[in-house]
Amino acid sequence: MNQPASSDLHPHLVIGGGISGLGAAFFASRAGTPTLVLEQQSRVGGCMNTQGFDGLGDFWVEAGSHSCFNSYGHLLEILERIGLLSKIQAKAKASYRLWRGGQRASILSALHPLELLTSLPRLFKLNKEKLSVYEYYGRGLGRKNYSDLFGPAFRSVICQTADDYPASALFRKKPRRKEILRSFTMPGGLAEIPRALAAQDGIEVRLESAVVGVTLEEGAYRVELDSGASLRAQALTLAVPPDVATRLLQGVSPAAAAAIGMIGVAEIDSLLLAFDKKDLKLPAIAGLISVDGPFLSAVSRDFLEHPQYRGFAFHFPGGRLDTERQIEAACQALDVAPSQVAAVRQEHNRLPSLRKSHGDWMARLNQALQATTAAGHPLAVTGNWFLGVSIEDCVTRSHDEMTRLFAG
Ligand SMILES: Cc1cc2nc3c(=O)[nH]c(=O)nc-3n(C[C@H](O)[C@H](O)[C@H](O)COP(=O)(O)OP(=O)(O)OC[C@H]3O[C@@H](n4cnc5c(N)ncnc54)[C@H](O)[C@@H]3O)c2cc1C
Repeated sequence: MNQPASSDLHPHLVIGGGISGLGAAFFASRAGTPTLVLEQQSRVGGCMNTQGFDGLGDFWVEAGSHSCFNSYGHLLEILERIGLLSKIQAKAKASYRLWRGGQRASILSALHPLELLTSLPRLFKLNKEKLSVYEYYGRGLGRKNYSDLFGPAFRSVICQTADDYPASALFRKKPRRKEILRSFTMPGGLAEIPRALAAQDGIEVRLESAVVGVTLEEGAYRVELDSGASLRAQALTLAVPPDVATRLLQGVSPAAAAAIGMIGVAEIDSLLLAFDKKDLKLPAIAGLISVDGPFLSAVSRDFLEHPQYRGFAFHFPGGRLDTERQIEAACQALDVAPSQVAAVRQEHNRLPSLRKSHGDWMARLNQALQATTAAGHPLAVTGNWFLGVSIEDCVTRSHDEMTRLFAG
């Protein structure tokens, strides 16, 4: 592993060891700048979080992201470079079902075909860039289709009400690499990707290193950790959720902090359940889209068969239900008694709550970052709150930011 130029001044420091931060570290180190990543948790990956269960051997469930696609161009480039592309794993096909009125139902049962047919021509005329998800898809797919099917489906993608989200940030059309599996995971789950990135030459990761403050001192960034220790760096990248970034930017660029201070964050309680296969009657499913709660969505592990177990991640609005109520709700949806649960795990996820004026705020942030960089203090911000929340959106922003800082 490359060492910093001098023992106390790091060439580049990244705060946050999710895919955005590790992607930034990858692109920076590839451009010749060794990078130290500081991560507050005891693992890398953030929302790319594959979790096993005590006593269930090699069985795992995805607590966060579960699918990558052949349209994830920058991610595929990284996988190619770090030798993971040849290991990607096809996902078995299964369908999502709706959870509505205490019953599972087919997706098609909620579709209003006539309304769809009459609305669709409008969709192609609407300007996605200027509209919220509700305005764009409500008009383009029909109000009833939106409330009965598409609204809940979009909510299940971003684990929060999608109505006010900018339509352009929900799905971005990206070119596909047709020679690669359309949708894939890794044999040991998606967390293999951040773990492999953290082990690359030119990248050093320090876990359990929560950053509590950043200042500019004597021409360099000073980064304070919760342990009381501090580090110095020539260049700094923030790859943390927007509320954390707002706090940390106060000391180095109040203009950047002001540009993002109003971005909200959705808190998500994720319940992971494992079952012995013989105890579940439910046929294989991709997951559940909840129309009327109490969970937002559920994703199954049925895309990669295990000889003994099946597993599910149920995502609930944060802080609403205690564990027992969550397990009851999940088991009701899976048609199984809570006593049959083989193992339980709880995780917490956070996702940004973007709003329609997001593009304007991001332009202000970018301006502030450029001004600080031009003043001799290279500063970048990346994350899932720029182009959109997908893994590829994160890696694309990281790529663009590292090109701005190091490849100019
Ligand atoms: C339930 C769920 C399902 C999803 N499914 C998919 C999917 O199938 N496909 C897809 O493409 N995307 C999916 N996503 C979205 C995608 O996984 C995330 O948007 C992406 O992983 C976010 O990466 P990130 O690095 O920007 O943020 P995070 O993953 O949130 O990483 C930020 C990191 O910063 C660390 N941190 C925070 N504060 C500090 C601090 N003060 N000091 C040090 N470290 C700090 C955190 O601990 C965390 O590790 C899903 C997300 C969720 C929640």
